[in-house]
Amino acid sequence: RWKSILHAGLRDQDAPTIFDRIIQRQIPSEIVMEDEHVLVFKDIHPQAPVHLLIIPKRRDGLTQLRYATADHQELLGKMFLTAARIAKEQNLRGYRLVINDGSEAQQSVFHLHMHLLAGRQMRWPPG
Ligand code: ADP
Repeated sequence: RWKSILHAGLRDQDAPTIFDRIIQRQIPSEIVMEDEHVLVFKDIHPQAPVHLLIIPKRRDGLTQLRYATADHQELLGKMFLTAARIAKEQNLRGYRLVINDGSEAQQSVFHLHMHLLAGRQMRWPPG
């Protein structure tokens, strides 16, 4: 079922990011949840009382969401389901999921990640 994802890392030619070092435990982080495909850890500069990052452990070319293909469909679904599960486990009353794609959206780490923000009143539109 996960064959395409398990083999696809070979396609990723982009430079590694700091998130690879977190995945490999080369630098410390506060890991909240991990399974074969997804890692969830606390953002080092939290923008809300709860600020988690949900990332694929194998980037597989997903430096940015724009490079997603049908091959990534299950992985992307898994990221959303992980967010929903964590929100439920942590009894979050409301939460916001954010993906920044590209420098105009203020993406700074080029390894796909979903921000999960909660624990305070959010406003709209985001800055
Ligand atoms: P931005 O940096 O503008 O928020 P991104 O959407 O690329 O853009 O988010 C990267 C996130 O990664 C930031 O929220 C940043 O605080 C977080 N981050 C960077 N380095 C680490 C680290 N070592 N541990 C945890 N979070 C980190």
